[in-house]
Amino acid sequence: MLPVAELHLHIEGTLEPELIFALAERNGISLPYADLDELRARYEFTDLQSFLDLYYANMAVLQTEQDFADMTRAYLARAALAGVRHAEIMLDPQAHLSRGVPLVTCVNGVASVLATSEGDYGISTLLIAAFLRDQSEESALAVLEELLAMQAPIAGIGLDSAEVGNPPAKFERLFARAGDAGLRRIAHAGEEGPPSYIIEALDVLGVERIDHGIRCMEDPELVERLVEELTPLTVCPLSNVRLRAVDDMAGHPLPAMLAVGLNVSVNSDDPAYFGGYVDDNFAQLASVLGLSEFDCVRLAANSIRSSFASEERKTELLAELAASGS
Ligand SMILES: [Zn+2]
Repeated sequence: MLPVAELHLHIEGTLEPELIFALAERNGISLPYADLDELRARYEFTDLQSFLDLYYANMAVLQTEQDFADMTRAYLARAALAGVRHAEIMLDPQAHLSRGVPLVTCVNGVASVLATSEGDYGISTLLIAAFLRDQSEESALAVLEELLAMQAPIAGIGLDSAEVGNPPAKFERLFARAGDAGLRRIAHAGEEGPPSYIIEALDVLGVERIDHGIRCMEDPELVERLVEELTPLTVCPLSNVRLRAVDDMAGHPLPAMLAVGLNVSVNSDDPAYFGGYVDDNFAQLASVLGLSEFDCVRLAANSIRSSFASEERKTELLAELAASGS
């Protein structure tokens, strides 16, 4: 397994059906599904929104710090098997606040596990607070201020959820505030939304990395700029297939993106919902698209270089990667 950094991962998207049932039982929550099979049958999505509806519904089982911690441990244990050696994990605080779960519960639940992830799982980690773009900027700003006030151990902010109709510019003040507070900035753009959203995320929000970004391929001028600026694009192939952003894996633009010199990496996004973790994504790319070992090493190196890990950690992981091929 190649050592990689996972840069595009929503912790709530790692909630596996078995854990959903276990947490529901522990918290005395009755689920609208009779059993695991009935829940699994709902994982046939037609677009981003159809996934988001199930995703938010399943979060109801996350109630206590322990629940968030158990979910985080389950991800790290699985990610370690996939070769993940560094992970930048997004948490959606607003999705929990709106259900009446306090900020401190979700943040501490996840952060308490991340604090010892390198020793426990061999995975260095950073926490990123992601904001829901289909909610207002005022709501996001209020949550960010609360996170800063409680000195939450976050390295940066992200922007996710329903993209179309919610352009990056809607969050200009939020990202400016995060920048002032010394936080790193990333945003989902160009998944379902147009290439212009990628340009807006870069120019208006000042992001350092684009999550997804696959639709940049529709704009040659933008591709040229992204190549020149080495802008990292965190691509999630299985997610794109499941959410119909592409027709099938055979038609995925990743090989073309690599060929033109874009700084792409491979990530699992919401692995419990999209059919697999980082290793499953690599396996599909190799078997369906014929991605070579050389390409896989390049993708792994891109992920490490594009991370927010310390220079020392990056050097260590790149050396590990170089040694893994010999
Ligand atoms: Zn995502």
